[in-house]
Amino acid sequence: MNQRELFLRHVAQTSPAPLAIEMVKASGCRMWDAQGKEYIDLIGGISVCNIGHCHPRVVEAVTSQSAKYMHLMVYGELVESPQVWFAQQLASHLPKQLDSVYFTSSGTEATEGAMKLAKRITGRPNIAAFHESYHGSSQGALSVMGSEYWRNAFRPLLPGIRHLEHNNIQDLKWIDETVACVIAEPIQAERGVLVPERSWMKALRERCDETGTLLILDEIQTGFGRTGSLFAFEQFGIIPDILLLGKALGGGMPLGAFVSSLANMNAFTTDPVLGHITTFGGHPVCCAAGSAAFDVLLDENLVANINVKEELFRQLLVHPMIKSFRSAGLLMALEFESWEINKAIIDACISMGVFTDWFLFASHCMRLAPPLTISVEEIKNATGIILKACESIRHQP
Ligand code: PMP
Repeated sequence: MNQRELFLRHVAQTSPAPLAIEMVKASGCRMWDAQGKEYIDLIGGISVCNIGHCHPRVVEAVTSQSAKYMHLMVYGELVESPQVWFAQQLASHLPKQLDSVYFTSSGTEATEGAMKLAKRITGRPNIAAFHESYHGSSQGALSVMGSEYWRNAFRPLLPGIRHLEHNNIQDLKWIDETVACVIAEPIQAERGVLVPERSWMKALRERCDETGTLLILDEIQTGFGRTGSLFAFEQFGIIPDILLLGKALGGGMPLGAFVSSLANMNAFTTDPVLGHITTFGGHPVCCAAGSAAFDVLLDENLVANINVKEELFRQLLVHPMIKSFRSAGLLMALEFESWEINKAIIDACISMGVFTDWFLFASHCMRLAPPLTISVEEIKNATGIILKACESIRHQP
C-alpha cells in the first residue's frame, strides 16, 4: 500500500472525502507535496501558522528546549521556565486583570476548563452560548457549539445550555442570575467571518456585569494578530473575564490556554483541590515554541500590515462568481452561490497550487486565513489563481 492508502486504512477518518494530499515540507507561506508540487498556503493550518511554517526562531526554540527537558511532571507542580516565561509574557500584553494563565493541550480543553471555572466561581448551573459558534468537539464544548446538526447525534449533552443569536440585543435578556457564563467568539469565524456591532459587544459586557455572569471570549481562532489587532476584543473596547487561546498560541505546537485573574483562577486550588487536571497542558516544548512565535509576531511587527494586506485581497478578489467578501484582518470569507460551487473552486485552486478550505457553518464560503507573513507577491499570485479557478468553474457546462 502507498502512503495514501495506508492513511485511509489506518488513520481514523472523519470525512468520506479527505483531501489526502501527502505534504512533505512547509516553510513560510509554502507547502510541498510528495510529488514536489508547491502550494501557497492560504489557510495556515486553520489560523495556527500566523508567523508562517517552520520559522527558524520557533525551530530553534523547539530544538533547544527538547534537548534540555520534555515532559517532567503533570501540570502545576514544578517550576518549568518556558511555561513561567510565556505566562508572564502573555500577561504583559493583556489587560491587567488577565494575569493568570492555565495552559492546556488544545483549544477545546481551554473551553472545558473555562466553563468549569465559571461554574465553580459563580455556583450557577446555566451557560449561554451562540448559534453557529464553535468552541471545540468534546462533550462540554460540543454542548455549547451552535449547531444542532453536530450536537444532535451525541445527546445527552450538558444540561442548562441556551443558545442565543449573536449580535442580537433582545437575546441578551436570557442572560440572568442563573447563568454562570456566556461563551462567545468576538468574531464568528466558522459562520464565515461575522463581525458584530461594537455596541452589541458593549451591551453583552454590560449585561454580564449586571447579572454577575462571567464573559468568556473565545479567541482561539481570532487571537495573535489574525484580525488586525493582537486580540480581537481590543477592537470592541471590552475585556472578557476569561480569555480562551489556542491555535497560533503554540507557534505550530499543540497548546491552548484560558486566562483570567489570579483571584478567579485560585478557585481551582480548593474544594476540590486540583480543580482542573492535565498531564500535558503547558508542555515545556510547546511553551518554548509559543513564546518564540509570540516574540516573532511582535519583533517583526506583523500586526501593523494586516489591514493593508486585507485590503489588497479585497481589491483583487472581484469576480462575478464571488457574491461577497467578508473579512476581519486576514480572516476572510469568499461567498459563493452554493457548497457545490465553492468545493469545485477550492478543488481547482488546490490543483493549481493554492491551498484553501471552507467553513464549518458556512460551507458555501471559501476560507482565507494565510500566515500573516504572506508577501504582496504571494497575495497577487494566489488571488490570480483563485480568479482563474472561478473562471474555469463559471465556464463549465
Ligand atoms: N474555538 C474556536 C473558535 C476554534 O476555531 C477552535 C478550533 N477550530 C476551537 C475552539 C477548538 O480548538 P482545538 O481544535 O485546538 O481543540
